[in-house]
Formats: sequence, structure tokens, C-alpha cells
Amino acid sequence: MDEEDPLAEYRSKRDFSKTPEPEGGRSGSLEKPIFVIQKHDASNLHYDFRLEIEGVLKSWAVPKGPSTDPSTKRLAVPTEDHALEYRDFEGVIPEGEYGAGTVMVWDYGTYRNLRAEKRDSEARKDMTESLNDGKVEVWLEGNKLEGGYVLIRTGSGENARWLLIKMKDEKAEPERDILEEEPASVMTGKSLEEISQSVNQ
Ligand code: MN
Repeated sequence: MDEEDPLAEYRSKRDFSKTPEPEGGRSGSLEKPIFVIQKHDASNLHYDFRLEIEGVLKSWAVPKGPSTDPSTKRLAVPTEDHALEYRDFEGVIPEGEYGAGTVMVWDYGTYRNLRAEKRDSEARKDMTESLNDGKVEVWLEGNKLEGGYVLIRTGSGENARWLLIKMKDEKAEPERDILEEEPASVMTGKSLEEISQSVNQ
């Protein structure tokens, strides 16, 4: 693996002459870091949760998607870093290509690193430290998801698992099924089916 290029793995998995996904350059960071959640109808439907950290999108595949209920823990499987330009990618990855299937921008917004805001300077962590530490705490300001979310690594080695959990705060909504209630693209209002049809026409 090329350690100089954080997107080496991302690029090695894709043939950019065949997929409409962005190849990714080295674009500068925006003022506030962004997050995006892409609903991805690949061999298994899942939600890709991505956080902008140091110029790339750190990514986890969440098979059951995010929840607004703090008592619900959702498995989040780390995947390769994606290019920042991927944040507004919506379309169809062709058959035979890596991740083949329809991609929707399900939610989009900015986030704050809650661990950087701790009063105790010993407890303060930047996002990279939080990742290495296995505990990421962010306040999402999305169109759909809002409030505190924690990504936590449990176990170690081969048994390591990440979980995505809504924090207990005023934005928690234990009774709500946001995936059912708001299934469409935040960017275009389209359903997965409409995205796939608009490309295949
Ligand atoms: Mn995916």
C-alpha cells in the first residue's frame, strides 16, 4: 500500500474508464468538515457513513443504517477512504465494477468533533486521535440526522467491531424510523429506483 496516497486503495479497486465515480484529487478542506451518508444498493443494501478527516472521507458501511434511537447499536464496518469529491456522488456503478449498484446521497451536512470540545485538556482529541483511540464522537448537522453520534470500536484484532450509536441528547428520537420515513435522496429527492432509471435511459 502506498502510504503517501491515502486514496491508493480506493483507486486500485476501480476502473475510472468504466465507473462514473470520481477519481479524487487532493482538494483542500472546506471550512467545516462534512459528513455524508450514501445509501448503496449493492449486493446487499447498506448505508455508507463518511466523515471528512484530513482531506479524505473516512468510511464505514452500516448494513442496517443509522438510527435515531440511543438504545440501538448499529454495526459499522470500516471501508477504504474515499475522495472528498465523493460527497455528492449519486448514480450507478456499472455491473462488474467494484461496488456495482445504485448510490444515493441519503444525508449530507457538517459535523463538529465533540472530543475536541472537552474542558479537560487531557481528554481532548482531534479526529485522527479519536479514530486511533477507537472512539469518535461527533455532532451531526445534517438534513436528516442531527445531534450526537458515537462510533465506537469494541474488541481487538480480528474481533474488532465498530458500532454506530445515537447519543442521548435532545435530538434523540427513540420512536422514529428515519430510514422508513425519509427514504429519498437529500440532494435530488429521487428514490433508488429513480436514480437507477435516470442513468439507464
Ligand atoms: Mn457501499
